[in-house]
Amino acid sequence: MRMWMINPKCLCSKHLRGEHYEIHKLIGNLLHGRSIQGYISGHLVEPQNFYSRHDELALEMIQRGMEHKSPLVKVEFNIECVVNKNKSIADLMDRCPECKERILKEMTNEEIRHVTSHDQLQLQSTL
Ligand SMILES: [Zn+2]
Ligand SMILES: [Zn+2]
Repeated sequence: MRMWMINPKCLCSKHLRGEHYEIHKLIGNLLHGRSIQGYISGHLVEPQNFYSRHDELALEMIQRGMEHKSPLVKVEFNIECVVNKNKSIADLMDRCPECKERILKEMTNEEIRHVTSHDQLQLQSTL
C-alpha cells in the first residue's frame, strides 16, 4: 500500500481510486490491530494525514464524477511518517503514462525539473 501524497489532480483515475481505497484499508488494519509498520518503515504512508488526505482524494473523485459513499471510521493512533513526494512523482511518471501526462500538465516545468534532477531521470526530452 502506498500514499502518493501529490496533488490529486496529477493522479489518473486508477491511481486516485487506488490511493483512496488504500487509506480505507490502512485505517481498517489499525482498527483491527494489524500492524502497518512495514509501510511506515518504507516511508510509504503518512498516518497523521489519513483523514485530511482521504477527504482531498474523495473530493477529487466526486469532481470527476466517481462515486464516493464509504464512510471513514475514526480511529485513534499516534504514528507519524513522511512520504518522499519526489519519489512518488518519479515512480508515477515511470510507471503510468496517464499520470505522467497529468503531472506534465499540472506541474510547472520548474517543479518537474526539481524532481527529475533529484532522481536523475532522463525526462528532459518529454518537457
Ligand atoms: Zn472514502
Ligand atoms: Zn496513474
